[in-house]
Amino acid sequence: MSRFGIKEGQEAKKPMPYVAPFAEGFWEGTKLGELRVQLCTKCGHKQWIPRPACEECGNRHLSWVKSNGRGHIYSFAIIRQVVMNSPAFEKEIPYALSIIELEDGFSKEDGSRNDGLPYMRMVFKFESTATGSRD
Ligand SMILES: [Zn+2]
Repeated sequence: MSRFGIKEGQEAKKPMPYVAPFAEGFWEGTKLGELRVQLCTKCGHKQWIPRPACEECGNRHLSWVKSNGRGHIYSFAIIRQVVMNSPAFEKEIPYALSIIELEDGFSKEDGSRNDGLPYMRMVFKFESTATGSRD
């Protein structure tokens, strides 16, 4: 019998990301435990998520800078069941998916909330996992 297409005795592997050429600097940083963001060499704008060009001026010459990894949780959801047909995450339930605003200058938000609630502070940290699969 199989569940989510995984046969009895088989272990589900976590899906691996597609690495676009303009995002390679980010993924190289993850191997070093660094959270990197793009820096426009023309206007100095910092941006996340990786894009092929600066979202402010259109410049295609972007470099990478290391974030200090500190920020606050803007929003989150607690995952309590298998989603997106990804049984590899089932053992980690419950877990939180969060939208994080980093404090080192590339957030589009102004740091204030209109609901009066305080932000939950956080420090980013990579955690190594077993090799995943593109299946
Ligand atoms: Zn720019």
